[in-house]
Amino acid sequence: MDNTRELETLQQWIDDSDNIVFFGGAGVSTESGIPDFRSQDGLYNQKYDEPPETIISHTYFMRKPEKFYRFYKDKMIAPDAKPNAAHKKLAELEQAGKLRAVITQNIDGLHQDAGSKEVLELHGSVRRNDCMKCGAHFDGVDIVLNSSGVPKCPRCGGTIKPDVVLYEEGLDDTTLYRAVDYIRAADVLIVGGTSLVVYPAAGLINYYRGHKLVLINLQPTGYDRQADLVIAGKIGQVLGQIQVR
Ligand code: NAD
Repeated sequence: MDNTRELETLQQWIDDSDNIVFFGGAGVSTESGIPDFRSQDGLYNQKYDEPPETIISHTYFMRKPEKFYRFYKDKMIAPDAKPNAAHKKLAELEQAGKLRAVITQNIDGLHQDAGSKEVLELHGSVRRNDCMKCGAHFDGVDIVLNSSGVPKCPRCGGTIKPDVVLYEEGLDDTTLYRAVDYIRAADVLIVGGTSLVVYPAAGLINYYRGHKLVLINLQPTGYDRQADLVIAGKIGQVLGQIQVR
């Protein structure tokens, strides 16, 4: 598909702004080799005994931690993944003083790896873990990946829980409010790589008050009609073509 005109418009809006906010989801990391949930080859279309939304729920974690961790270690942690052109361009835009924040539903930490500083992780991160018994905190993924079965706290033997928002769990209020503030104040809001069906995250778009809402996604979303610019394409390829000046 020829996106030349849309890309020109996006470039112009980026050139003219120093208050861009990015809001993204799993599609931002598919070009880094991490599967999303709802694409054709996403996790929801792979075959498991139980649907992923059941396995990565709070109830399931509490009742069947062994099976939870089998799925989680296999499918949710990608220690070798590297930032792609989308992560890198967003970091560059922030560095240039044009982008204020990245708000992400992702839990993979790739925005930080690319150099982004202001990253609001709505759904937490696989790189932070806490002991449910003594509260000890463990950075990184090693405590989980180096364990067999359910990871246990080296200090007290309690079960380790990743700092990831599971289904049935609420989002962190402070992160959510900060995200709302950034979006409300944004001049350009770029939304990409998200099916926009997971709430309350998807509803954040409704706080945007400007007239430069850009959607970059492979598949159509329910918000396409609300957008001022829709670019159907791979986000790494699209943002990779943007000049920072
Ligand atoms: P989703 O799987 O529901 O939707 C992904 C969307 O991105 C789809 O509409 C797809 O068409 C689009 N997409 C896929 N690759 C793309 C690309 N290269 N360029 C542009 N668009 C692309 O993901 P979601 O909306 O983020 O919701 C799923 C939930 O699962 C979120 O909470 C998310 O954080 C979590 N999740 C996170 C990761 C991760 O951290 N990398 C991976 C899988 C799921």
